[in-house]
Amino acid sequence: MKLPNYEDVMRASHRLVNYAHHTPVLQSQTLNERLGAQVFFKCENFQRIGAFKFRGGYNALANLTEAQRQRGVVAFSSGNHAQAVALAAKLFQVPATIVMPRSAPAAKKAATLGYGATVVEYDRLTEDRERIAQRFVDEQGMTLIPPFAHADVIAGQGTAVKELIEEVGGLDALFVPLGGGGLLSGSLLAANALNPSCKVYGVEPEGGNDAQQSLAKGEIVRLDCPQAIADGALTPALAPMTFALIQQYAAGVVTVSDAELISALQFFASRMKLVVEPTGCLGAAAVMQERIPLKGMRVGVLISGGNVDLAQYGQLLATR
Ligand SMILES: *Cc1c(COP(=O)(O)O)cnc(C)c1O
Repeated sequence: MKLPNYEDVMRASHRLVNYAHHTPVLQSQTLNERLGAQVFFKCENFQRIGAFKFRGGYNALANLTEAQRQRGVVAFSSGNHAQAVALAAKLFQVPATIVMPRSAPAAKKAATLGYGATVVEYDRLTEDRERIAQRFVDEQGMTLIPPFAHADVIAGQGTAVKELIEEVGGLDALFVPLGGGGLLSGSLLAANALNPSCKVYGVEPEGGNDAQQSLAKGEIVRLDCPQAIADGALTPALAPMTFALIQQYAAGVVTVSDAELISALQFFASRMKLVVEPTGCLGAAAVMQERIPLKGMRVGVLISGGNVDLAQYGQLLATR
């Protein structure tokens, strides 16, 4: 297993220059005063497809050979990776097949179809999405673009934190939403190269803390049916590649509850005028709840995405 490194993140960053948005970094005076810290939000909810995953998807497609592009790509995803691969495939004029849970938010499914991909649905509780995707690889010669267990995907995801640190300078701590660990792994490569003293934390939902358990145990722990409103972070387990990078570089993994995610989502809507999906709130919720003491620190937070079904968003905004 060859792990990606910071050189790979730099190469991805050059490839993405004219294709991904350089997303804004925002601050909230209210939050800074409340915490006695300076918090920089990297707003990947403004990225193309509404989440950072475009970075990894595009970088993976960019590295395919002409023969691979002609046979097409297949991906499995609860939503944002699906849209990322679908849009990247459209830009490279490559056919894409996306394996999606039947329970995925309607907005994510509609967007994926809108980019011209073929959607194949499965039942998250009884079927194995990896096996379904593998069938397209075996029978049709498609290339699988996994959501996180892939060096090019990880390198692409790392470009968001590269931009953040280059823009705002050194940070004392950085909080990154954590599902399968692609985003955290890429972020760790960028932070370790540009800002080695920055402590980088992954943030998981309480109901799906497999990475936290994996670090404690020293081996990958699998949780079969994780439950939380952070639907983009319900991956059952890290991959060997993301586990290795997280073990090597992360300062730790912390968790937040659904109620804490909802409170962060409401803060973004009411105070910062930002639409952030529940999974996108993971890093922010850990900071707002001061899971780690932050007084006097410069703190980075990755807002990972903003794709939320409008009906669900309305309910979350109205939750007390
Ligand atoms: C996929 C996703 C995550 C988790 O990323 P991993 O690379 O799987 O850890 C977090 N937030 C959003 C919005 C996502 O789409």
